[in-house]
Amino acid sequence: MTTGFIERSFYSLGTLNNIKIYNCNDESVLDISQNRVNELDDLLSAFKPNSDISKLNSNSGKGYVEIHKDTFMLLSRSIEFSKMSSGAFDISIRPLVELWGIGKKNNFIPSTDEISKVRKLVNYKNIMLDSKNKMAALLKEGQAIDLGGIAKGFAADEVKRILLERNIESAIINLGGNIVTIGNKPDGNRWKIGIQNPLSVRGQNVGVLPITNKAIVTSGSNERFFIKDGVRYHHIIDPRTGIPSNSSILSVTVVSDCSMDADALTTSLFILGPEALFSSSSAFGDLQFDAVFITEELELIATDGIRQQLTK
Ligand code: AMP
Ligand code: MG
Repeated sequence: MTTGFIERSFYSLGTLNNIKIYNCNDESVLDISQNRVNELDDLLSAFKPNSDISKLNSNSGKGYVEIHKDTFMLLSRSIEFSKMSSGAFDISIRPLVELWGIGKKNNFIPSTDEISKVRKLVNYKNIMLDSKNKMAALLKEGQAIDLGGIAKGFAADEVKRILLERNIESAIINLGGNIVTIGNKPDGNRWKIGIQNPLSVRGQNVGVLPITNKAIVTSGSNERFFIKDGVRYHHIIDPRTGIPSNSSILSVTVVSDCSMDADALTTSLFILGPEALFSSSSAFGDLQFDAVFITEELELIATDGIRQQLTK
């Protein structure tokens, strides 16, 4: 058995990524992982002109385009999350994301007229899928897709698959905050993942969760935002209003076997709030996961599965 670890940080999927593998000295595992993430970025980016998503967006209102099976799967799963979340999660959000330009345009608040005009383009029901021919179409001209709420999660699952195929037993994958752990830490203890205090500087935690073999993903209003007249305008937009969601929570963290699902869930639950999870008729009841919400008062609301494990 070799000892020590290998590690790589790289920029892809519009964010900084890090992969750390213990008891392994084979750099080719990192090369293959990084190549896979870049391959997904090439397919799924809304900015690269030859990506599947750009092809779909530039062809809106003009019929079907052929897409890769990975893109197809992500579109299908996204639409399932739109249904489960009653339309809160909607990858056709892109025209609103562009209008607000959070993190790009300085403290810009669009007019209500602009918002209501652009909001009409956002509706997952106008994303058409042809599963036999792996084709997709956006029915309305000007419609556009943004996989920013789910793609990193899927990419992290893919890196996990690559590492497991190579018999890696201890690793931590962090794709822009979408964390996937393999096994335990090399000393045999569980990974300890901090839950960021959304009101503090990075690294200040409100709690720590022990994690083994799971994905842990957070959506928060502290990632990209500005504050104007006491209102926090951030990067997760409620398709029902056309404005950054205002559900009185600062962040939500999901722990699950599947990082893709955890990613889509955090974005959905961030908009819907804890009520969507704790009501007896929750649409997410069929999925296996745990969640922790942080309220504006920095109160933690956790599911039974992890409440006892959360430490300060
Ligand atoms: P996350 O940080 O995973 O919650 O994803 C946020 C990103 O998802 C944003 O930067 C947008 O690219 C995209 N997004 C924003 N609002 C929504 C929404 N309502 N449904 C799906 N994706 C969204
Ligand atoms: Mg997400």
